[in-house]
Amino acid sequence: MFGLMQDHKLLVPSLIEHAAACHPDAEIVSRTVEGPIHRCTYRDIHGRAKQAANALSALGVQRGERVATLAWNGYRHMELYFAVSGMGAVLHTVNPRLFPEQLEYIINHAEDAVLCFDLSFVALVEKLAPQLKSVRAFVLMTDRAHMPECAIPGLLCYEDLLAAESSDYAWPDLDECSAASLCYTSGTTGMPKGVLYSHRSTVLHAFGACTADSFALGRSDTALLVVPMFHVNAWSMPYAGAMSGAKLVLPGPALDGASVYALLRDERVTLALGVPTVWMMLLQHASTMGSKPVEELMLDRVVIGGAAVPRAMVEAFERDFGASVVHAWGMTETSPVGTVCNLLPVHRALPLEERLQVQAKQGRAVFGVSLKLTDDEGRRLPHDGQAAGHLKIRGPWVARAYYRDEGGPILDDEGYFDTGDVATIDPDGYMQITDRSKDVIKSGGEWISSITLENAAMGHPLVAEAAVIGIAHPKWQERPLLLVVVKDGQTLERESVLHYLSDRVAKWWLPDDVVFVPKLAHTATGKLHKAVLREQFRDYSFP
Ligand code: ADP
Repeated sequence: MFGLMQDHKLLVPSLIEHAAACHPDAEIVSRTVEGPIHRCTYRDIHGRAKQAANALSALGVQRGERVATLAWNGYRHMELYFAVSGMGAVLHTVNPRLFPEQLEYIINHAEDAVLCFDLSFVALVEKLAPQLKSVRAFVLMTDRAHMPECAIPGLLCYEDLLAAESSDYAWPDLDECSAASLCYTSGTTGMPKGVLYSHRSTVLHAFGACTADSFALGRSDTALLVVPMFHVNAWSMPYAGAMSGAKLVLPGPALDGASVYALLRDERVTLALGVPTVWMMLLQHASTMGSKPVEELMLDRVVIGGAAVPRAMVEAFERDFGASVVHAWGMTETSPVGTVCNLLPVHRALPLEERLQVQAKQGRAVFGVSLKLTDDEGRRLPHDGQAAGHLKIRGPWVARAYYRDEGGPILDDEGYFDTGDVATIDPDGYMQITDRSKDVIKSGGEWISSITLENAAMGHPLVAEAAVIGIAHPKWQERPLLLVVVKDGQTLERESVLHYLSDRVAKWWLPDDVVFVPKLAHTATGKLHKAVLREQFRDYSFP
Protein backbone atom coordinates (compact mmCIF):
# COMPACT_ATOMS: atom_id res chain seq x y z
CA MET A 1 0.00 0.00 0.00
CA PHE A 2 1.34 3.45 -0.89
CA GLY A 3 1.10 6.45 1.40
CA LEU A 4 -1.15 9.23 0.30
CA MET A 5 1.18 12.18 0.64
CA GLN A 6 2.12 14.56 -2.16
CA ASP A 7 4.98 13.50 -4.33
CA HIS A 8 6.68 16.88 -4.12
CA LYS A 9 10.13 16.97 -5.68
CA LEU A 10 13.24 18.13 -3.88
CA LEU A 11 14.60 20.77 -6.27
CA VAL A 12 17.23 23.47 -5.71
CA PRO A 13 15.01 26.40 -6.85
CA SER A 14 12.47 25.45 -4.17
CA LEU A 15 15.05 26.73 -1.66
CA ILE A 16 15.18 30.24 -3.05
CA GLU A 17 11.40 30.22 -3.61
CA HIS A 18 11.01 29.42 0.08
CA ALA A 19 13.48 32.16 1.10
CA ALA A 20 11.66 34.73 -1.06
CA ALA A 21 8.30 33.72 0.43
CA CYS A 22 9.27 33.29 4.08
CA HIS A 23 12.48 35.27 4.65
CA PRO A 24 12.33 37.95 1.93
CA ASP A 25 14.08 40.64 3.96
CA ALA A 26 16.91 38.56 5.42
CA GLU A 27 20.15 40.04 4.15
CA ILE A 28 22.98 38.84 1.97
CA VAL A 29 26.00 41.06 2.59
CA SER A 30 28.95 40.82 0.19
CA ARG A 31 32.38 42.39 0.16
CA THR A 32 32.73 42.89 -3.57
CA VAL A 33 35.77 42.44 -5.77
CA GLU A 34 35.15 46.01 -6.94
CA GLY A 35 35.62 47.18 -3.34
CA PRO A 36 32.47 48.35 -1.54
CA ILE A 37 30.20 46.30 0.70
CA HIS A 38 27.00 45.33 -1.14
CA ARG A 39 23.72 44.60 0.63
CA CYS A 40 20.71 42.78 -0.75
CA THR A 41 18.03 40.34 0.42
CA TYR A 42 16.80 36.88 -0.46
CA ARG A 43 13.97 38.61 -2.32
CA ASP A 44 16.57 40.35 -4.51
CA ILE A 45 18.57 37.15 -5.07
CA HIS A 46 15.35 35.38 -6.08
CA GLY A 47 14.43 38.04 -8.66
CA ARG A 48 17.93 38.35 -10.07
CA ALA A 49 18.42 34.55 -10.21
CA LYS A 50 15.37 34.48 -12.49
CA GLN A 51 16.82 37.30 -14.62
CA ALA A 52 20.07 35.33 -14.82
CA ALA A 53 18.15 32.18 -15.86
CA ASN A 54 16.46 34.18 -18.64
CA ALA A 55 19.85 35.59 -19.69
CA LEU A 56 21.49 32.15 -19.81
CA SER A 57 18.54 30.80 -21.81
CA ALA A 58 19.02 33.68 -24.25
CA LEU A 59 22.66 32.59 -24.58
CA GLY A 60 21.35 29.19 -25.63
CA VAL A 61 22.17 27.23 -22.48
CA GLN A 62 20.29 23.93 -22.61
CA ARG A 63 19.22 21.54 -19.87
CA GLY A 64 22.13 19.43 -18.65
CA GLU A 65 24.75 21.80 -20.05
CA ARG A 66 27.46 22.99 -17.70
CA VAL A 67 27.85 26.64 -16.70
CA ALA A 68 31.13 27.28 -14.89
CA THR A 69 31.95 29.92 -12.31
CA LEU A 70 35.38 31.17 -11.34
CA ALA A 71 34.35 33.43 -8.51
CA TRP A 72 34.71 34.42 -4.86
CA ASN A 73 31.89 34.40 -2.35
CA GLY A 74 29.51 37.14 -3.41
CA TYR A 75 25.86 37.83 -4.26
CA ARG A 76 26.27 37.36 -8.03
CA HIS A 77 27.80 33.94 -7.42
CA MET A 78 24.84 33.11 -5.19
CA GLU A 79 22.38 34.19 -7.91
CA LEU A 80 24.08 31.80 -10.32
CA TYR A 81 23.82 28.97 -7.78
CA PHE A 82 20.03 29.16 -8.12
CA ALA A 83 19.75 30.34 -11.73
CA VAL A 84 21.90 27.62 -13.29
CA SER A 85 20.62 24.61 -11.32
CA GLY A 86 17.09 26.01 -11.36
CA MET A 87 16.94 26.15 -15.17
CA GLY A 88 18.08 22.53 -15.36
CA ALA A 89 21.69 23.26 -16.31
CA VAL A 90 24.63 22.20 -14.12
CA LEU A 91 26.58 24.70 -12.04
CA HIS A 92 30.28 23.90 -12.19
CA THR A 93 32.13 25.85 -9.48
CA VAL A 94 35.80 25.96 -10.45
CA ASN A 95 38.49 26.51 -7.81
CA PRO A 96 40.65 29.43 -9.05
CA ARG A 97 43.50 28.39 -6.77
CA LEU A 98 44.25 25.36 -8.94
CA PHE A 99 47.17 25.54 -11.34
CA PRO A 100 46.29 26.90 -14.82
CA GLU A 101 46.89 23.44 -16.39
CA GLN A 102 44.42 21.90 -13.92
CA LEU A 103 41.86 24.64 -14.66
CA GLU A 104 42.18 23.99 -18.37
CA TYR A 105 41.83 20.24 -17.81
CA ILE A 106 38.76 20.61 -15.58
CA ILE A 107 36.88 23.09 -17.80
CA ASN A 108 37.55 21.00 -20.91
CA HIS A 109 36.71 17.77 -19.10
CA ALA A 110 33.38 19.23 -17.90
CA GLU A 111 32.79 20.71 -21.39
CA ASP A 112 31.51 23.93 -19.86
CA ALA A 113 29.36 25.96 -22.25
CA VAL A 114 29.57 29.29 -20.41
CA LEU A 115 32.21 30.64 -18.04
CA CYS A 116 31.17 33.34 -15.57
CA PHE A 117 34.05 34.91 -13.64
CA ASP A 118 35.02 37.68 -11.26
CA LEU A 119 37.15 40.71 -12.12
CA SER A 120 40.11 39.19 -10.22
CA PHE A 121 40.40 36.49 -12.89
CA VAL A 122 40.45 38.54 -16.10
CA ALA A 123 44.16 37.94 -16.75
CA LEU A 124 43.82 34.25 -15.93
CA VAL A 125 40.84 33.76 -18.27
CA GLU A 126 42.56 35.78 -20.99
CA LYS A 127 45.41 33.24 -20.85
CA LEU A 128 43.13 30.19 -20.66
CA ALA A 129 40.48 31.24 -23.21
CA PRO A 130 42.19 29.93 -26.39
CA GLN A 131 42.43 26.45 -24.82
CA LEU A 132 38.80 26.30 -23.64
CA LYS A 133 37.20 24.73 -26.70
CA SER A 134 33.70 24.11 -25.32
CA VAL A 135 33.13 27.60 -23.88
CA ARG A 136 30.73 29.57 -26.12
CA ALA A 137 30.35 32.64 -23.89
CA PHE A 138 32.57 34.40 -21.36
CA VAL A 139 30.65 36.49 -18.82
CA LEU A 140 32.39 38.93 -16.52
CA MET A 141 30.51 39.18 -13.22
CA THR A 142 30.55 42.97 -12.92
CA ASP A 143 28.83 46.11 -14.19
CA ARG A 144 29.48 48.19 -17.32
CA ALA A 145 31.68 50.70 -15.46
CA HIS A 146 34.19 47.99 -14.52
CA MET A 147 34.44 46.26 -17.90
CA PRO A 148 38.14 46.14 -18.84
CA GLU A 149 39.88 46.29 -22.21
CA CYS A 150 41.01 42.73 -22.77
CA ALA A 151 41.52 40.00 -25.34
CA ILE A 152 38.76 37.63 -24.18
CA PRO A 153 36.63 36.94 -27.27
CA GLY A 154 33.12 38.46 -27.15
CA LEU A 155 33.35 39.20 -23.43
CA LEU A 156 29.86 39.82 -21.95
CA CYS A 157 28.93 41.98 -18.98
CA TYR A 158 26.83 40.19 -16.32
CA GLU A 159 24.90 43.29 -15.24
CA ASP A 160 24.08 44.18 -18.87
CA LEU A 161 22.77 40.64 -19.44
CA LEU A 162 20.54 40.84 -16.38
CA ALA A 163 19.32 44.35 -17.14
CA ALA A 164 17.97 43.11 -20.48
CA GLU A 165 15.83 40.38 -18.85
CA SER A 166 12.68 40.21 -16.78
CA SER A 167 12.44 38.51 -13.40
CA ASP A 168 9.52 36.45 -14.69
CA TYR A 169 10.75 32.92 -15.13
CA ALA A 170 9.02 29.62 -14.46
CA TRP A 171 11.47 27.05 -13.11
CA PRO A 172 11.11 23.90 -15.22
CA ASP A 173 9.69 20.76 -13.65
CA LEU A 174 12.84 18.65 -13.33
CA ASP A 175 13.48 15.13 -12.16
CA GLU A 176 14.83 15.53 -8.62
CA CYS A 177 17.62 13.09 -9.46
CA SER A 178 18.87 15.24 -12.33
CA ALA A 179 22.27 16.91 -11.95
CA ALA A 180 22.37 20.30 -10.20
CA SER A 181 26.07 21.02 -9.69
CA LEU A 182 29.53 19.68 -10.34
CA CYS A 183 32.66 19.98 -8.19
CA TYR A 184 36.06 18.52 -8.85
CA THR A 185 38.22 17.04 -6.11
CA SER A 186 41.34 19.11 -5.64
CA GLY A 187 43.48 16.42 -7.19
CA THR A 188 46.06 15.90 -4.47
CA THR A 189 46.17 12.35 -5.85
CA GLY A 190 46.19 12.21 -9.66
CA MET A 191 43.99 14.33 -11.92
CA PRO A 192 40.93 15.99 -10.39
CA LYS A 193 37.73 13.93 -10.61
CA GLY A 194 34.23 15.36 -10.96
CA VAL A 195 31.50 14.77 -8.38
CA LEU A 196 28.04 15.43 -9.79
CA TYR A 197 25.46 16.42 -7.18
CA SER A 198 21.74 16.02 -7.85
CA HIS A 199 18.89 18.33 -6.83
CA ARG A 200 17.72 15.71 -4.37
CA SER A 201 21.15 15.20 -2.79
CA THR A 202 21.63 18.98 -2.52
CA VAL A 203 18.31 19.60 -0.77
CA LEU A 204 18.68 16.63 1.60
CA HIS A 205 22.24 17.71 2.41
CA ALA A 206 20.99 21.25 3.18
CA PHE A 207 18.44 19.78 5.62
CA GLY A 208 21.32 17.85 7.19
CA ALA A 209 23.41 21.01 7.55
CA CYS A 210 20.58 22.92 9.28
CA THR A 211 19.77 20.32 11.95
CA ALA A 212 20.56 21.19 15.56
CA ASP A 213 23.31 18.61 15.99
CA SER A 214 24.88 19.66 12.74
CA PHE A 215 25.46 23.42 12.12
CA ALA A 216 22.12 24.37 13.76
CA LEU A 217 21.57 27.11 11.20
CA GLY A 218 18.49 29.24 11.80
CA ARG A 219 16.84 32.55 10.97
CA SER A 220 18.49 34.21 13.98
CA ASP A 221 21.98 33.37 12.72
CA THR A 222 24.30 35.59 10.75
CA ALA A 223 26.68 33.24 8.99
CA LEU A 224 30.07 34.26 7.61
CA LEU A 225 31.08 31.94 4.77
CA VAL A 226 34.84 32.03 4.82
CA VAL A 227 34.73 28.62 3.16
CA PRO A 228 34.70 29.41 -0.57
CA MET A 229 31.68 28.82 -2.78
CA PHE A 230 34.13 27.12 -5.18
CA HIS A 231 34.99 24.54 -2.50
CA VAL A 232 32.24 21.89 -2.24
CA ASN A 233 29.48 24.51 -2.52
CA ALA A 234 30.67 26.31 0.63
CA TRP A 235 29.57 23.28 2.65
CA SER A 236 25.96 23.87 1.50
CA MET A 237 25.63 27.27 3.12
CA PRO A 238 24.06 29.09 0.14
CA TYR A 239 21.35 26.38 0.08
CA ALA A 240 21.07 25.95 3.85
CA GLY A 241 20.96 29.74 4.19
CA ALA A 242 17.98 29.98 1.85
CA MET A 243 16.32 27.06 3.65
CA SER A 244 16.71 28.64 7.09
CA GLY A 245 16.63 32.35 6.23
CA ALA A 246 19.95 33.01 7.96
CA LYS A 247 21.62 36.30 7.09
CA LEU A 248 24.71 35.44 5.01
CA VAL A 249 27.97 37.38 4.90
CA LEU A 250 30.12 36.72 1.84
CA PRO A 251 33.70 37.97 2.19
CA GLY A 252 34.78 38.17 -1.47
CA PRO A 253 38.51 37.84 -2.05
CA ALA A 254 39.68 39.42 1.24
CA LEU A 255 40.39 36.51 3.56
CA ASP A 256 43.23 38.06 5.58
CA GLY A 257 42.82 38.26 9.36
CA ALA A 258 41.99 41.98 9.52
CA SER A 259 39.30 41.84 6.78
CA VAL A 260 37.62 38.75 8.22
CA TYR A 261 37.71 40.29 11.69
CA ALA A 262 36.07 43.49 10.43
CA LEU A 263 33.16 41.50 8.95
CA LEU A 264 32.73 39.45 12.14
CA ARG A 265 32.45 42.70 14.11
CA ASP A 266 30.53 44.95 11.74
CA GLU A 267 27.95 42.39 10.62
CA ARG A 268 27.49 40.89 14.11
CA VAL A 269 28.26 37.40 12.86
CA THR A 270 27.08 34.50 15.08
CA LEU A 271 28.36 31.56 13.04
CA ALA A 272 31.51 31.40 10.90
CA LEU A 273 32.71 28.53 8.73
CA GLY A 274 36.11 27.80 7.21
CA VAL A 275 39.25 25.66 7.07
CA PRO A 276 41.95 25.87 9.78
CA THR A 277 44.40 27.92 7.66
CA VAL A 278 42.11 30.97 7.47
CA TRP A 279 41.42 30.78 11.18
CA MET A 280 45.16 30.74 11.84
CA MET A 281 45.38 34.09 10.02
CA LEU A 282 42.46 35.44 12.06
CA LEU A 283 43.92 34.29 15.39
CA GLN A 284 47.29 35.76 14.44
CA HIS A 285 45.59 39.08 13.68
CA ALA A 286 43.61 38.99 16.93
CA SER A 287 46.80 38.44 18.93
CA THR A 288 48.11 41.79 17.66
CA MET A 289 44.97 43.76 18.62
CA GLY A 290 44.76 45.92 21.70
CA SER A 291 41.17 44.90 22.50
CA LYS A 292 39.77 41.45 23.21
CA PRO A 293 37.53 40.04 20.41
CA VAL A 294 35.09 38.64 22.97
CA GLU A 295 34.26 42.20 24.07
CA GLU A 296 33.07 43.34 20.66
CA LEU A 297 31.88 40.22 18.80
CA MET A 298 28.65 38.20 18.85
CA LEU A 299 30.37 35.07 17.56
CA ASP A 300 28.76 31.94 19.00
CA ARG A 301 30.25 29.05 17.02
CA VAL A 302 32.98 28.45 14.47
CA VAL A 303 32.57 25.44 12.20
CA ILE A 304 36.00 24.17 11.18
CA GLY A 305 36.62 21.36 8.73
CA GLY A 306 38.61 20.33 5.69
CA ALA A 307 41.61 19.51 7.88
CA ALA A 308 42.08 18.54 11.51
CA VAL A 309 41.52 21.33 14.02
CA PRO A 310 44.52 21.91 16.26
CA ARG A 311 43.48 21.84 19.87
CA ALA A 312 45.14 25.21 20.52
CA MET A 313 42.63 26.67 18.04
CA VAL A 314 39.65 25.35 20.01
CA GLU A 315 41.07 26.93 23.15
CA ALA A 316 41.90 30.25 21.47
CA PHE A 317 38.37 30.66 20.06
CA GLU A 318 36.84 29.88 23.45
CA ARG A 319 39.18 32.08 25.45
CA ASP A 320 39.57 35.10 23.18
CA PHE A 321 36.39 35.03 21.08
CA GLY A 322 33.92 33.48 23.52
CA ALA A 323 32.94 31.09 20.69
CA SER A 324 32.75 27.30 20.61
CA VAL A 325 34.44 25.36 17.88
CA VAL A 326 32.36 22.79 16.01
CA HIS A 327 34.71 20.40 14.27
CA ALA A 328 33.35 18.81 11.10
CA TRP A 329 34.58 16.28 8.56
CA GLY A 330 33.70 15.67 4.96
CA MET A 331 34.97 15.58 1.41
CA THR A 332 33.93 16.56 -2.10
CA GLU A 333 32.47 13.06 -2.60
CA THR A 334 30.21 13.51 0.45
CA SER A 335 28.69 16.91 -0.49
CA PRO A 336 30.66 17.45 1.98
CA VAL A 337 29.09 17.05 5.44
CA GLY A 338 29.69 13.59 6.92
CA THR A 339 30.29 14.07 10.64
CA VAL A 340 29.92 17.02 12.99
CA CYS A 341 31.39 17.24 16.48
CA ASN A 342 28.83 18.59 18.90
CA LEU A 343 29.04 17.59 22.54
CA LEU A 344 26.66 15.17 24.27
CA PRO A 345 25.03 16.16 27.57
CA VAL A 346 27.54 14.00 29.50
CA HIS A 347 30.45 16.00 28.10
CA ARG A 348 29.30 19.36 29.44
CA ALA A 349 30.56 18.68 32.95
CA LEU A 350 33.90 17.21 31.87
CA PRO A 351 37.14 18.85 32.98
CA LEU A 352 38.54 21.06 30.19
CA GLU A 353 41.27 18.63 29.23
CA GLU A 354 38.85 15.75 28.63
CA ARG A 355 36.32 17.92 26.85
CA LEU A 356 39.00 19.16 24.45
CA GLN A 357 39.86 15.56 23.65
CA VAL A 358 36.26 15.04 22.50
CA GLN A 359 36.30 18.26 20.46
CA ALA A 360 39.48 17.18 18.69
CA LYS A 361 37.46 14.33 17.15
CA GLN A 362 35.75 14.86 13.80
CA GLY A 363 32.34 14.07 15.26
CA ARG A 364 29.26 11.90 14.81
CA ALA A 365 27.45 10.94 11.65
CA VAL A 366 24.64 13.28 10.60
CA PHE A 367 21.30 11.53 9.91
CA GLY A 368 21.44 10.03 6.43
CA VAL A 369 25.08 9.06 6.65
CA SER A 370 26.35 5.67 7.86
CA LEU A 371 29.98 4.95 8.59
CA LYS A 372 32.01 1.78 8.90
CA LEU A 373 35.64 0.89 9.50
CA THR A 374 37.38 -1.98 7.79
CA ASP A 375 40.80 -3.60 7.70
CA ASP A 376 42.83 -3.99 4.49
CA GLU A 377 40.73 -7.05 3.53
CA GLY A 378 37.43 -5.21 3.93
CA ARG A 379 36.47 -6.92 7.22
CA ARG A 380 34.56 -4.68 9.63
CA LEU A 381 36.47 -3.37 12.68
CA PRO A 382 34.83 -2.57 16.03
CA HIS A 383 33.70 0.94 16.98
CA ASP A 384 35.69 0.86 20.21
CA GLY A 385 37.70 4.04 19.82
CA GLN A 386 40.87 1.94 19.50
CA ALA A 387 40.82 0.04 16.21
CA ALA A 388 41.97 2.26 13.34
CA GLY A 389 40.78 1.26 9.89
CA HIS A 390 39.66 2.46 6.47
CA LEU A 391 36.73 4.83 6.86
CA LYS A 392 33.81 4.04 4.53
CA ILE A 393 30.61 5.99 4.11
CA ARG A 394 27.15 5.54 2.60
CA GLY A 395 24.21 7.91 2.25
CA PRO A 396 21.94 9.89 -0.09
CA TRP A 397 24.50 12.69 -0.53
CA VAL A 398 27.52 10.43 -1.06
CA ALA A 399 28.82 9.88 -4.62
CA ARG A 400 28.14 6.54 -6.27
CA ALA A 401 30.42 7.19 -9.26
CA TYR A 402 32.64 9.97 -10.61
CA TYR A 403 31.58 12.18 -13.49
CA ARG A 404 32.03 10.28 -16.75
CA ASP A 405 32.74 7.21 -14.62
CA GLU A 406 36.37 8.24 -14.21
CA GLY A 407 38.13 5.57 -12.14
CA GLY A 408 35.38 2.94 -12.58
CA PRO A 409 33.20 1.56 -9.76
CA ILE A 410 33.81 3.21 -6.40
CA LEU A 411 31.46 1.39 -4.01
CA ASP A 412 31.99 -1.87 -2.12
CA ASP A 413 29.47 -4.77 -1.96
CA GLU A 414 27.45 -2.98 0.71
CA GLY A 415 27.34 0.29 -1.23
CA TYR A 416 29.97 2.09 0.86
CA PHE A 417 32.50 4.56 -0.58
CA ASP A 418 36.09 4.33 0.68
CA THR A 419 37.07 7.83 1.83
CA GLY A 420 40.82 7.20 1.75
CA ASP A 421 40.92 8.27 5.39
CA VAL A 422 42.03 6.15 8.32
CA ALA A 423 39.93 6.60 11.44
CA THR A 424 38.65 5.24 14.73
CA ILE A 425 35.01 5.39 15.90
CA ASP A 426 34.30 5.34 19.63
CA PRO A 427 31.31 3.69 21.34
CA ASP A 428 29.47 7.06 21.38
CA GLY A 429 29.86 7.24 17.59
CA TYR A 430 32.56 9.93 17.51
CA MET A 431 34.79 9.39 14.51
CA GLN A 432 38.40 10.50 14.68
CA ILE A 433 40.60 10.74 11.62
CA THR A 434 44.07 9.44 12.37
CA ASP A 435 45.40 9.93 8.86
CA ARG A 436 44.81 9.74 5.16
CA SER A 437 45.70 6.23 4.05
CA LYS A 438 48.55 7.52 1.92
CA ASP A 439 49.99 9.73 4.71
CA VAL A 440 49.94 7.26 7.58
CA ILE A 441 53.49 6.33 8.68
CA LYS A 442 54.08 2.59 8.69
CA SER A 443 56.72 1.90 11.31
CA GLY A 444 57.65 -1.70 12.11
CA GLY A 445 54.23 -3.01 11.05
CA GLU A 446 52.37 -0.45 13.19
CA TRP A 447 50.72 2.80 12.10
CA ILE A 448 51.78 6.21 13.37
CA SER A 449 49.25 9.00 12.86
CA SER A 450 50.88 12.00 11.20
CA ILE A 451 47.87 14.15 12.18
CA THR A 452 48.21 13.33 15.88
CA LEU A 453 51.90 14.27 15.80
CA GLU A 454 51.16 17.50 13.90
CA ASN A 455 48.47 18.50 16.37
CA ALA A 456 50.72 17.78 19.32
CA ALA A 457 53.55 19.87 17.80
CA MET A 458 51.11 22.72 17.05
CA GLY A 459 50.47 22.97 20.79
CA HIS A 460 54.07 24.20 21.33
CA PRO A 461 53.80 27.94 21.96
CA LEU A 462 56.50 28.83 19.41
CA VAL A 463 55.26 26.59 16.58
CA ALA A 464 53.24 28.34 13.86
CA GLU A 465 52.64 25.26 11.70
CA ALA A 466 53.81 21.64 11.63
CA ALA A 467 53.76 18.75 9.17
CA VAL A 468 54.85 15.15 9.58
CA ILE A 469 55.88 12.89 6.71
CA GLY A 470 57.19 9.34 6.60
CA ILE A 471 60.82 8.88 5.54
CA ALA A 472 62.09 5.49 4.40
CA HIS A 473 64.03 3.71 7.14
CA PRO A 474 66.21 0.60 6.73
CA LYS A 475 64.99 -1.08 9.90
CA TRP A 476 61.47 0.26 10.55
CA GLN A 477 60.30 0.71 6.93
CA GLU A 478 59.28 4.33 7.66
CA ARG A 479 59.88 6.80 10.46
CA PRO A 480 58.31 10.23 11.08
CA LEU A 481 60.09 13.46 10.15
CA LEU A 482 58.66 16.62 11.70
CA LEU A 483 58.76 19.85 9.66
CA VAL A 484 58.19 23.02 11.66
CA VAL A 485 57.50 26.65 10.79
CA VAL A 486 58.48 28.79 13.78
CA LYS A 487 56.34 31.81 14.75
CA ASP A 488 57.54 35.14 13.35
CA GLY A 489 60.60 36.55 15.10
CA GLN A 490 61.09 33.48 17.34
CA THR A 491 63.81 30.85 17.48
CA LEU A 492 63.34 27.27 18.50
CA GLU A 493 65.64 24.27 19.14
CA ARG A 494 65.05 20.73 17.90
CA GLU A 495 65.44 19.41 21.48
CA SER A 496 62.80 21.77 22.84
CA VAL A 497 60.23 20.43 20.33
CA LEU A 498 61.11 16.79 20.97
CA HIS A 499 61.02 17.33 24.72
CA TYR A 500 57.60 18.96 24.42
CA LEU A 501 56.30 16.03 22.34
CA SER A 502 57.75 13.37 24.65
CA ASP A 503 55.04 14.13 27.26
CA ARG A 504 52.29 14.02 24.66
CA VAL A 505 52.80 11.01 22.39
CA ALA A 506 54.03 7.43 22.76
CA LYS A 507 57.81 7.18 22.82
CA TRP A 508 58.01 5.13 19.63
CA TRP A 509 55.98 7.81 17.82
CA LEU A 510 58.57 10.54 18.51
CA PRO A 511 59.88 11.96 15.19
CA ASP A 512 63.41 10.85 14.36
CA ASP A 513 64.27 14.41 13.41
CA VAL A 514 62.90 17.96 13.29
CA VAL A 515 63.62 20.25 10.34
CA PHE A 516 62.80 23.95 10.52
CA VAL A 517 61.41 25.39 7.29
CA PRO A 518 60.28 28.92 6.34
CA LYS A 519 56.93 27.67 5.02
CA LEU A 520 55.00 24.52 4.13
CA ALA A 521 53.35 23.67 0.82
CA HIS A 522 49.52 23.81 0.77
CA THR A 523 46.93 22.50 -1.69
CA ALA A 524 44.39 24.65 -3.52
CA THR A 525 41.97 24.02 -0.65
CA GLY A 526 44.43 25.15 2.01
CA LYS A 527 45.54 21.75 3.29
CA LEU A 528 49.10 20.62 3.87
CA HIS A 529 50.33 19.30 0.53
CA LYS A 530 51.97 16.10 1.73
CA ALA A 531 52.81 14.89 -1.78
CA VAL A 532 54.88 18.03 -2.42
CA LEU A 533 56.52 17.81 1.02
CA ARG A 534 57.42 14.16 0.43
CA GLU A 535 58.93 15.14 -2.91
CA GLN A 536 60.93 17.99 -1.30
CA PHE A 537 62.38 15.56 1.27
CA ARG A 538 62.81 12.62 -1.12
CA ASP A 539 66.58 12.54 -0.65
CA TYR A 540 66.51 13.27 3.05
CA SER A 541 68.07 10.69 5.37
CA PHE A 542 67.96 10.69 9.15
CA PRO A 543 71.14 11.81 10.95
P1 ADP B 1 40.72 16.50 -1.59
O1 ADP B 1 40.23 15.12 -1.22
O2 ADP B 1 40.89 16.68 -3.03
O3 ADP B 1 41.87 16.98 -0.74
P2 ADP B 1 38.44 17.44 -0.17
O4 ADP B 1 38.13 18.84 0.18
O5 ADP B 1 37.36 16.60 -0.69
O6 ADP B 1 39.57 17.54 -1.21
O7 ADP B 1 39.17 16.79 1.06
C1 ADP B 1 38.62 15.75 1.82
C2 ADP B 1 39.63 15.26 2.80
O8 ADP B 1 40.02 16.29 3.71
C3 ADP B 1 39.09 14.16 3.70
O9 ADP B 1 39.13 12.92 3.06
C4 ADP B 1 40.04 14.25 4.88
O10 ADP B 1 41.25 13.57 4.63
C5 ADP B 1 40.34 15.71 4.97
N1 ADP B 1 39.51 16.32 6.01
C6 ADP B 1 38.35 16.97 5.87
N2 ADP B 1 37.89 17.40 7.06
C7 ADP B 1 38.79 17.00 7.98
C8 ADP B 1 38.89 17.13 9.40
N3 ADP B 1 37.99 17.78 10.11
N4 ADP B 1 39.95 16.57 10.00
C9 ADP B 1 40.90 15.91 9.30
N5 ADP B 1 40.86 15.77 7.97
C10 ADP B 1 39.83 16.30 7.31
